[in-house]
Amino acid sequence: MARNLVEIIRRMGMTDPRLLAAVAATPREHFVPPRSAARAERDEPIPIGHGQPTSQPSLVAQMIDALMPADKDTVLEIGTGYGYQTALLAHLAGHVYSVERYADLAEHARANLAALDVPNVDVVVGDGTAGLPEHAPFDAIIVSAAAPSVPGPLAEQLAEGGRLVMPIAATVADIVTLYTKQHGRLERQRAVTPAQFVPLVGEHV
Ligand code: SAH
Repeated sequence: MARNLVEIIRRMGMTDPRLLAAVAATPREHFVPPRSAARAERDEPIPIGHGQPTSQPSLVAQMIDALMPADKDTVLEIGTGYGYQTALLAHLAGHVYSVERYADLAEHARANLAALDVPNVDVVVGDGTAGLPEHAPFDAIIVSAAAPSVPGPLAEQLAEGGRLVMPIAATVADIVTLYTKQHGRLERQRAVTPAQFVPLVGEHV
């Protein structure tokens, strides 16, 4: 049970019952390397290989709280890692396409999601900065690595009225930012939180 994490997230002021239910239903110890399972209930990032972390759960929750997919939404996630955020999104949305550039991390994520019988996810190995044009448009897009601006293909593949959450690289910290798409263009809505992310590595950065 992820009760600890639910309490931490609630105390930070996130009260959406759908979000709290998703966190409660998602045992994070299934989404970290076995040697780190004992630390999974702490609100900390955990290394997953290739110098990459699985993000701090409260940060994942803040990003999903801003994105808040509806239950029929199709979501695109860039940066699957070990699949923790993917599992939360799958709990909230209709379908999740998740792109990871490291094949072995994608394989871990697939196995972790399958072990919990999460059915509505496709994990794809590739460069997420190109998006997945064959499955566009997406109602919501979430990016788990930082770049100076939103990659053009992701802006294009977001549906009209859709929401996009991504850390934008700035000088001191990255700023997780919420955008919506209006009249065919991305519009910045608000800064969600400052944070530190690994860089988004790809062709359209
Ligand atoms: N969201 C995950 C992982 C965060 S770490 C979690 O919280 O568990 C960021 C991930 O983004 C890493 O796994 C890294 O390999 C991946 N990544 C970076 N650039 C990418 C790109 N262009 N396409 C797909 N994945 C990318």
